Amino acid sequence: MRDSNPRDQIKLSAEEMREMGYRIIDMLVDYTGAQAQFPVTRALDHATFEEILDEPIPEAGSDWRDVLEQFERQVLTTIDHLDHPRFFAYIPSSSNFVGAMADTLASGYNIFNALYPLGTGAAVVERLAVSWLCRLCGMPEKAGGLFVSGGSVANLTGLAVARQIQLGGDMRDAVIYCSDQAHFVISRGLRILGFAPDQLRQILSDEDYRLPLADLERAIAEDRAAGKRPFCIAATAGTTNSGAVDPLNDLADLCEREDLWLHVDGAYGASACLTTHRRLELAGLERAHSLSWDAHKWMFQPVECSAILVRDRHWLSETFKERAHFLTDAEPHSKEEAGEELNFMYQGIQLTRYFRALKFWMSLKVFGLAAMRRAIERGFELAELAESLLRDSGRWEIVTPAQMAIVTFRYKALDGDEALANTVTHQLSGAMAANGFAFASTTQLGQKTVMRLVTNNPRTTPSDLRQTVLIMGRLAAELEAEIISAAADS
Ligand SMILES: *Cc1c(COP(=O)(O)O)cnc(C)c1O
Repeated sequence: MRDSNPRDQIKLSAEEMREMGYRIIDMLVDYTGAQAQFPVTRALDHATFEEILDEPIPEAGSDWRDVLEQFERQVLTTIDHLDHPRFFAYIPSSSNFVGAMADTLASGYNIFNALYPLGTGAAVVERLAVSWLCRLCGMPEKAGGLFVSGGSVANLTGLAVARQIQLGGDMRDAVIYCSDQAHFVISRGLRILGFAPDQLRQILSDEDYRLPLADLERAIAEDRAAGKRPFCIAATAGTTNSGAVDPLNDLADLCEREDLWLHVDGAYGASACLTTHRRLELAGLERAHSLSWDAHKWMFQPVECSAILVRDRHWLSETFKERAHFLTDAEPHSKEEAGEELNFMYQGIQLTRYFRALKFWMSLKVFGLAAMRRAIERGFELAELAESLLRDSGRWEIVTPAQMAIVTFRYKALDGDEALANTVTHQLSGAMAANGFAFASTTQLGQKTVMRLVTNNPRTTPSDLRQTVLIMGRLAAELEAEIISAAADS
């Protein structure tokens, strides 16, 4: 075998690696430090983007500088910035540089965090990070969990554990309850697990968009009378639509009385339990049997970083443990339980696993819990400021007041015209994207189309909000005038 070109071993020379690495770090620092000066939305539209990137499979390689340049010119320009201080749409992901560097380390050293004899340090860091999360939300000593890609997989994992532990895997006639405000990943997760659509009861939420206890109790009683087997309530701690928190303590009491599993989707809101006072809004969260928690939403991690926590860590291995002969060499020989829970390939869905816990651990150590707490608190305060600015401007009807760093509102149309208010509000998101100063998205709450401002980015300033509210008011008034004049013309 002849000595090959380094490229045939899929590697770069040391000088090239350094040059490429430094170039990328410079790009990231320039971007991160000056984000507020750039438009929040993409520069190119989707059609242009697809055309540009369409090319044949590259048989021969090319210079990394050219590929990096193409990435900057054609990929980066088509991306909305979820970490921009004026990105208020969906659920922003504000990220942080330490977390991004930790991701580089996790990939650079290609750390495999599945079996602890192959990576004890990584497994121990993950267990420690999970135990911090359990302590922060008040779960008991024997709680445990693991890091996964996001709320979708965290909720799926929690529901899989509920099915195994609460139902012994027998899904016949089993019924699960959530409100109509629950995230779609709950119903999708149940479908993936093999539940039929009629095994999920989506209860109409109350006027505050929370799961109404009396209706829920009635549904459970009716199902029992019909011979069904209620087994789980999937509550939400901070809905994506409006930040509403289901009455967790009441639901936990109900679960105790009725012998039901309490799954809490805290993908967005669970982070509020880091704060000193706002955590009261999450009272009862610590009573969940399983809890999903996205660190890439309100704990400032780069995507993908989420955790699933369960109040008894043995439930995970009871659900996910398997045997593989080709892995027995690497499995710990002692039966002590420390080994069990460190073998993350038996605690969840993935065998080969990326070391996601690293970014959480590293950024929490660098910035400290106190800074995280203040950054989360700031999200609440920014939403409260946004609410008062919107009220003061007189142009908006507040539909749900600031809660969990989300405020929702609708344009006040001329003569109180409801349909016009919905249309203007609906079209506003597109007008904001075209304008590029700030971006927000709409949702539907009952009969109302509402705009949402989600203010969980700690680098958003009061001035960002003031200017955003001014610009939204102007754009909405323009849309209203256009719609009215188009109707008059036709
Ligand atoms: C975002 C979100 C999810 C989905 O989580 P991903 O991290 O996007 O997979 C689930 N539930 C709630 C309440 C969310 O806000």
